[in-house]
Amino acid sequence: MIVQTVPRPTTWAEYEAVKSQLVDTLGQPLVSEYCARCRCEHFTVEPHLSEVPCPDCGSTATRCLRGSGFEAAEWHQARVEAFDQLRDERDAAGVAQVAKWAEPAALVVERDTLDLWPESSERGPDA
Ligand SMILES: [Zn+2]
Ligand SMILES: [Zn+2]
Repeated sequence: MIVQTVPRPTTWAEYEAVKSQLVDTLGQPLVSEYCARCRCEHFTVEPHLSEVPCPDCGSTATRCLRGSGFEAAEWHQARVEAFDQLRDERDAAGVAQVAKWAEPAALVVERDTLDLWPESSERGPDA
């Protein structure tokens, strides 16, 4: 199985930094383009937003909607799960999708803690 070779980004800045190195499930570099159908930029191998309407609020747009009708900052959990399920179905059917990270999300927190210590960059040319 092909997985991402870069550490899972935890912030938008980290994501931007590794974006060009991300691959799909066939090992090809991911291409992020403006999608007229979704009216936002997303990876070309990803499902369109309208393909995963939110089970909670019914939104087919970039953002979920709050009860007030205003846009929510994050997707409802049910929509996140629906998106993952569609992704897995296509992956199982042999359609290229965004490759997953090798490590489960829980381990990332631990590694982020370790990252507080300086890396081997301290080593000089003599090392
Ligand atoms: Zn789209
Ligand atoms: Zn929603």
